[in-house]
Amino acid sequence: MTDRYAVIGNPIAHSKSPLIHGLFAQTTGQDLTYTALEGPLDGFAEAVRSFIAAGGRGMNVTLPFKLQAFEIATDPMESARLAGAVNALKFEGDRIWAQNFDGLGLVNDIQRNLGVSLTGKRVLICGAGGATRGAILPIAQQKPALIAIANRSADKAQALKTDFAAHTPLQTGGYADLAGERFDVVLNATSTGLSQAELPLPPSVFTPDALAYELVYGKGLTPFLKQARAAGVAQCVDGVGMLVEQAAEAFAWWRGVRPDTRPVIEHLTVPLV
Ligand code: NDP
Repeated sequence: MTDRYAVIGNPIAHSKSPLIHGLFAQTTGQDLTYTALEGPLDGFAEAVRSFIAAGGRGMNVTLPFKLQAFEIATDPMESARLAGAVNALKFEGDRIWAQNFDGLGLVNDIQRNLGVSLTGKRVLICGAGGATRGAILPIAQQKPALIAIANRSADKAQALKTDFAAHTPLQTGGYADLAGERFDVVLNATSTGLSQAELPLPPSVFTPDALAYELVYGKGLTPFLKQARAAGVAQCVDGVGMLVEQAAEAFAWWRGVRPDTRPVIEHLTVPLV
């Protein structure tokens, strides 16, 4: 029987995951199907159980179910435990294994695809939500000189500092605290790329050869990327590479084969205009 996989979310119609995994399956010669499932807002666990009963082998999980997926996992891996959220599930008998590959996808995109080493760098992450939580440990593992977190709500940034204290030191604060600070890598992990709101970032926050990375993808030149360009930053990218790289990690976890991500990233890249 052909192995079944899916992405579950709500809404889900715009998900790129079926296209990405379909291309991965084609290029690696894996016999599988990968579909998009709109999970009911009040019946996530039942929807997952039905999928398993119908022969499902694994799932990607997207908004708003990343926390609920953590709750139904029997075996959350470290990446999921630290993020408190899950973006990939693997089903084996009665066991539900859970991972969060978003942070690893981000680091792989920055280092392998963009050729920017995080080692010894000053890294600023704007935002203190789920994406930031998932990114901290994979970034810390690259031994940057500093990880700073700036967030609109100071208490959420402070909570990250406490939660990750045993793993990595974090400098946390609000945007006003960034005056006079400069960073080699500036990540926008807020949802302002979707709302088109502008972050109160001082232009001096970017070093001249900084990387400005917008996690939101497919939205062209977001306010954050415009700010970075206006500050003279040459390397401005969005999160399409992160999306494809996290998918590749899930695919390799499920199938034991790592697909080539470059042609898929090229296929999905929207020009930043
Ligand atoms: P969350 O909802 O968990 O967090 C949102 C963050 O944005 C919070 O820190 C919030 O601050 C901040 N924020 C929202 N509006 C504003 C504003 N007007 N001004 C300043 N800060 C604001 O989202 P996630 O962490 O899950 O995701 C963040 C973004 O990353 C999403 O837009 C998502 O599309 C993208 N993403 C991309 C991925 C990819 O594969 N490329 C993977 C995962 C996420 P506060 O705490 O003050 O409310």
